[in-house]
Amino acid sequence: MTNKPKILIVYTGGTIGMVKDYNTGALKAFDFSQISSKIPELQQLNCDITTISFDEPIDSSNMNVDYYIQIAEIISDNYNKFDGFVVLTGSDTMSYTSSAISFMFENLQKPVIFTGSQLPIGDLRTDAKENLITSIQIASTYENGQPIIQEVGLYFEYKLYRANRTTKINAEQFEAFASMNYPPLAESGVHLNFNHHLLLKPSQKETKLVFRKKLDNHVAILKLFPGITEPVVRSFVNISGLKGIVLETYGSGNAPTEKWFLNLLEESIQKGISIVNVTQCAGGSVILGHYETSSEMKRIGIVDGKDITTETAIAKMMYLLGEKLSKEEFKHYFQKPLRGEMA
Ligand code: ASP
Repeated sequence: MTNKPKILIVYTGGTIGMVKDYNTGALKAFDFSQISSKIPELQQLNCDITTISFDEPIDSSNMNVDYYIQIAEIISDNYNKFDGFVVLTGSDTMSYTSSAISFMFENLQKPVIFTGSQLPIGDLRTDAKENLITSIQIASTYENGQPIIQEVGLYFEYKLYRANRTTKINAEQFEAFASMNYPPLAESGVHLNFNHHLLLKPSQKETKLVFRKKLDNHVAILKLFPGITEPVVRSFVNISGLKGIVLETYGSGNAPTEKWFLNLLEESIQKGISIVNVTQCAGGSVILGHYETSSEMKRIGIVDGKDITTETAIAKMMYLLGEKLSKEEFKHYFQKPLRGEMA
């Protein structure tokens, strides 16, 4: 690359975009089009920055499939005009949103870095500046004419993670995210070090960006707990229009072996509902059939979620259901890593 990298910041809302009005003490939205004057440090970065903001910035608790599509459309419409993208969202649902975006793009060859902050950008002790500056730096780092990151990442508190491997683990510490089953893609200290061997390498054959936006949100998450009753599970699997369930099981994918429970699951699968087994544990993997308590689930056709996070399982489910696959195809594609989201 001969010119300065062009970076597009997409601001959707969240704490990062707030400043304190020191007269009233209230937090108010910050005008991101003024970003360079508000954060003069950005001028030291060797890149051209453009920003696009949601007309009405949202708290990420209000994030939904329509907003996923809005973010992805901004990236797709500007894909050829920019070298890298930084997406600012609230941290509360950032893992869900960034995972969904990772599935919506196939053959991504440019960096899409999600970030946010725990304290508003206008707060004296804010983590927003470091998160934003380093995210921009990551999105504009090229080597031999190629961006180093060619996937969807999430940068927070000195670490870049594969977005679809992350979970928000802390509501107040700056280190708000963890990626229990995959090491960081990059770490920022005195140097910005990329773990090259961990990065997704795009296909050499398929270079055209494919954008898929037919997400189907007829999905739900059922978290098991000791003492869960038959009426609860029965009413859950009978939710009208339901097409997919992410079943949060214990340990390496274990669940009660009671007849009523397995029968309800089996009937639902026969009715066409896809059920994916993911673990409630923060780290580690489902191993279907490892214990007797999961071998029946394997027999009745439950999909093995392996080491996927719940956030990513629900996003992948929306994506694959949107593709209108057969039951067998759904299972095949779910159990296969599509964007580095599982082992
Ligand atoms: N509630 C905020 C949000 O997720 C918190 C944050 O921005 O980190 O939008």
